[in-house]
Amino acid sequence: MQYRLIVFLSSAVLAAAFATIGGYLYWQTKKYSEIELVDSTDKLYSIYTIQNEILSRHAQALAYSIATNTEIQHLLDEGNAAVHAEGGHGGGKRAARVRDALREYVNQQWGDLPMQHEVQHMHFILPDGVSFLRMDVPSHFGDSLLSARPMLADTARDHLPRCGFEIGHTYTGLIGIAPVMRVSPSNGKRFVGMIEAGFDTGRQIRRLDKQLNIGIALLLNNHRILNATPESHQPTTLAHRHFILAASRPEVNNWLRDGLLPESRRTPQTQLLAWQGRQFQLISFALDDHQSQLDPQFEPPGTVLLWHDITPHTQRLEAKHTAIFRGIFTVYAITQFALLVLIRLFRREWERRLKKNTTTIENLSQRNALLLDTAADGICGIDHNGCITFINRAALTMHGYQLEEVMGKNLYSLFHRNDPGGQATLIENCQLMQALSDRKSRESEEWLSRRDGSCFPAKMTITPIRGQGPENGAVVVFHDITEQRNRQEALLQLATTDSLTGASNRRHFLDQLEAELSRQRRHGGSTSLLMTDLDLFKRVNDGHGHAAGDAVLSHFVHIVRQTVRRSDIIGRLGGEEFAILLPGVGISGARELAERLRNVFEHTPAKIGNVFIPATVSIGISDLRVEDRTADSPLHRADEALYSAKEAGRNCTMVYNPDWQRSNLPGTNTAS
Ligand code: GH3
Ligand code: MG
Ligand code: MG
Repeated sequence: MQYRLIVFLSSAVLAAAFATIGGYLYWQTKKYSEIELVDSTDKLYSIYTIQNEILSRHAQALAYSIATNTEIQHLLDEGNAAVHAEGGHGGGKRAARVRDALREYVNQQWGDLPMQHEVQHMHFILPDGVSFLRMDVPSHFGDSLLSARPMLADTARDHLPRCGFEIGHTYTGLIGIAPVMRVSPSNGKRFVGMIEAGFDTGRQIRRLDKQLNIGIALLLNNHRILNATPESHQPTTLAHRHFILAASRPEVNNWLRDGLLPESRRTPQTQLLAWQGRQFQLISFALDDHQSQLDPQFEPPGTVLLWHDITPHTQRLEAKHTAIFRGIFTVYAITQFALLVLIRLFRREWERRLKKNTTTIENLSQRNALLLDTAADGICGIDHNGCITFINRAALTMHGYQLEEVMGKNLYSLFHRNDPGGQATLIENCQLMQALSDRKSRESEEWLSRRDGSCFPAKMTITPIRGQGPENGAVVVFHDITEQRNRQEALLQLATTDSLTGASNRRHFLDQLEAELSRQRRHGGSTSLLMTDLDLFKRVNDGHGHAAGDAVLSHFVHIVRQTVRRSDIIGRLGGEEFAILLPGVGISGARELAERLRNVFEHTPAKIGNVFIPATVSIGISDLRVEDRTADSPLHRADEALYSAKEAGRNCTMVYNPDWQRSNLPGTNTAS
């Protein structure tokens, strides 16, 4: 799953990277292509504008060169005089004769201009703006031009040459206008008329088409034609909003018909046009006339349309894009393949390492499991809550549980006990929980319980595991110390007990006496000490044998045990001498007890086989005092009292008296 995710994510990143690169390259080439088209728009616009300017100047120069001809000046002056003499407009016969003469002269002088220089329009106009002679339309004259022809009106006013595009009555196109001035000695310099020259627009743009390899069309707004041109010279096809004044290529007629042409605007506009399987770039801008050129408020009369076939350019761009996509895709496919191979290799290596590590871990865990299971000590792992996470066989055997019964259970509540009786340990006293809390190792001896409720002493080592989270628990190692305790107790018994009678030996008794002394010093209260010595014991030995003597000694201790409390301490100080410590018992109580003991012993002889061995005991009594520094003091006093009992004749009880005075007790045997 993880592997698939890695493959998917890395492939997605790679695909996204290549898509970005591809998109960027596509965008870049497209941008450069658009820049190229914009460049070509600017170039074509500039070239056309310059060409137009040159042609205008040519027309003006031509008009001017004709206007400077003296014969022309003379004939136009004559024509003007004749027209005025004959009633204005076209004049009469005289004016007609001058007109013919003028036409004859012009034909002689410049008759080859239309063929050689593409001149279409040559117009002679009288000073008041009335047409005198149109070389291209000789029958049309006498019409007044000033109202429809602003450029002409300006020249009539200021006698300056001009050039530019204008819509005329019979001719529309680039026009050069020159004033005709006649100089004569009698009248000086006079303005006698104007001459217009205009080129054949169609031929001009076809020539430009050939030179630049671009389609050119001049489109005029219909309403301007209708306004400016007499009906006789209006175009026949005005079905559309525009009228094509001239076009170098025929397809523009279809575009006009199909409404594909752009709206006319002053600034150059570029538009792409798909037509008959080819791509064209169309550039359109305003076709200015004299008026709209001078004043932007005036609407330009039409539109100039330039176009060229950019199909090869588009095909080149498409080929470039195809090459980019192919290249990108090929590199992507190779990289993707290499990536997959690389990921696969990595996966194999990773799996190999994983397998190796897994094997190592398995070996280690087997070894650990073996170690845990063969260890004699109980070993438990607990988590941070004290719950069992692992437990070895020895621990299970010690507790008498099965593995599934203890896993996940709390070690503290399951096993830990306060005493051999199995009472629960308070959690605040539990070493285990404290180690989990303060993260410090511990060693302690505790009582642990078995499944059957019995308990055993155990030495326990708790070692917290350093880590984070639930693993942050501890390892508990323990072993049963019952035997060790038993051995210790046996040794203690040996070291502190008399083997014949079971009473404390002299050393141990003296220790207990010392302890009682210091306890009494701290807490007060009274304690008594009896010193006993069997009477004439030599005789017992001599009469019944040493073994019988031993039996009498054991018998005596037995009777003492039955007489005193469990908390009283019996010690054999040597031979047949015993001392008895009676904590919490004053002198009178001690005396009563001593008497009872003496009496019971006297009347309960030891029986060896079938023989009763009578014996008596003498007892000296003393109390423990706060001024006693060592055990010797009370022992000495009790000994003194015993001595006085022996002195008194044996088988009696004597209380220590510092004045050595005997105190005979009721029913007590005394000796003199
Ligand atoms: P009395 O104390 O009344 O003056 O006379 P006695 O005979 O008891 O005198 P003494 O205290 O001098 O003698 C003690 C005897 O106890 C001597 C010894 O043989 C005997 N005795 C001491 N230890 C043992 C023992 O462990 N076993 C036996 N059977 N006899 C012992
Ligand atoms: Mg004795
Ligand atoms: Mg003795």
